[in-house]
Amino acid sequence: MSQIAEQSNRALELSAETYRQAQLCVHCGLCMPVCPTYLLEGLEPDSPRGRIHLMKGLADGRIEATETVRGHLDMCLDCRACETACPSGVVYHELIEETRAKLGDGGTGKRRTFGRWLVDFVCFRIMPYPWRLKLALAPARVLQKVGLWGIVSGLARRVLGEQIGKMQQMLPRKGGFWPTHGAERYEAEGPRKMTVGMMAGCVGSVMFGETNRKAIRLLQRMGCEVVVPREQVCCGAIHHHGGKVEKAKAFARHNVEVFENVDVVVSTIAGCGAMLKEYGHLLGEDEEWAERAERVGGMVMDVSELMATLEPEEPEYGVEMKATYHDACHLAHGQGVRSEPRALLGMVKGLEMVGLRESDTCCGAAGTYNLTQVETAKRLANRKIGNIEKTGCEVCITGNVGCAMQIQSEAEGMGKKIKVLHPVDVLYAAYFGEEVC
Ligand code: SF4
Ligand code: SF4
Repeated sequence: MSQIAEQSNRALELSAETYRQAQLCVHCGLCMPVCPTYLLEGLEPDSPRGRIHLMKGLADGRIEATETVRGHLDMCLDCRACETACPSGVVYHELIEETRAKLGDGGTGKRRTFGRWLVDFVCFRIMPYPWRLKLALAPARVLQKVGLWGIVSGLARRVLGEQIGKMQQMLPRKGGFWPTHGAERYEAEGPRKMTVGMMAGCVGSVMFGETNRKAIRLLQRMGCEVVVPREQVCCGAIHHHGGKVEKAKAFARHNVEVFENVDVVVSTIAGCGAMLKEYGHLLGEDEEWAERAERVGGMVMDVSELMATLEPEEPEYGVEMKATYHDACHLAHGQGVRSEPRALLGMVKGLEMVGLRESDTCCGAAGTYNLTQVETAKRLANRKIGNIEKTGCEVCITGNVGCAMQIQSEAEGMGKKIKVLHPVDVLYAAYFGEEVC
């Protein structure tokens, strides 16, 4: 028997707790209308219920991990909208993440294209390491400065394919050559309420360092001492969502050690925050680390969640703007944070917020999904941008860099005049009287 056949004939071994999640599903279908891929395709295997059925079938050894089955599972965004809708409390992400990790890369005999290999290389070997990312971006920044980025990236896209094209499309149009680290410790203004450890994020610290800087400044003003430990590493989300669990655990252990002496761990990036909050589960079977990971995971807050608990005074300045709000999946579904950013933005004088249809439906970013499932991600972005346009707003506010890059780049590709901001950008302008940017 060939290695491929042997592998596909074996039942997929899921942990007892994860298998129990599949058993919890009562097939009611209430999750289906909120599932982005079901909304697009209208097919049962591209719905949460269908995928749970497939995963249970794999675990029971009733079906094999064929290319078709993997295709339906790969198409899942891991956006967790189905968890919000599920009355039975199925923790779906544990099921899809363990299934992906156990299935691994092999088994179908399908060869990776060069484009896919390069995307994996960038996602797993470059993006989680800020200095490597800074070095990798340096040539692009030089080309941007001399005005040749459009030509060179267009050629690269034609030669290397759509996945590379997507990477170049998402690169923010502006950026320094060598983004600098700020200080490691920032004093609180007035009496210190707490010490906050900031998870700067790997992609976030390189491409959206300005948002972190503004968040630190706001937290200082609200009475927090902020530390940004240099030793911190990637939260592990990229590897975890890509099925590389052992590497994600190694990152988690390192960060637990780095952050365990602060009062609160804060993140401006929904994807990182959701991953950090999962550390207790991720290291739950590691006797040496489980307790510490659970404690640190319990200390994590999104920046808007933390600011809301600090009960800040109303901002002094007005921001004359009409904007809508997109709920990042890993903030709304992953962390249950919906009201806090809206409440904070509601304090800003002159800011008119307009409701967004399907505000908590994924925009297609979903970690590295927009690099691996380019077409589906694009369709979801188009749907999101269409809904933003219907609000009549030219500004969309969202608390996740992945969503910001996805919506901004796709809107620019469509020639739409939409600007994407983080809530922190707006709050900073309102508290410090600066231009929103
Ligand atoms: S995680 Fe998102 S894409 Fe995946 S099944 Fe659930 S709702 Fe659908
Ligand atoms: S809502 Fe929950 S119980 Fe109902 S089909 Fe979806 S996952 Fe299963």
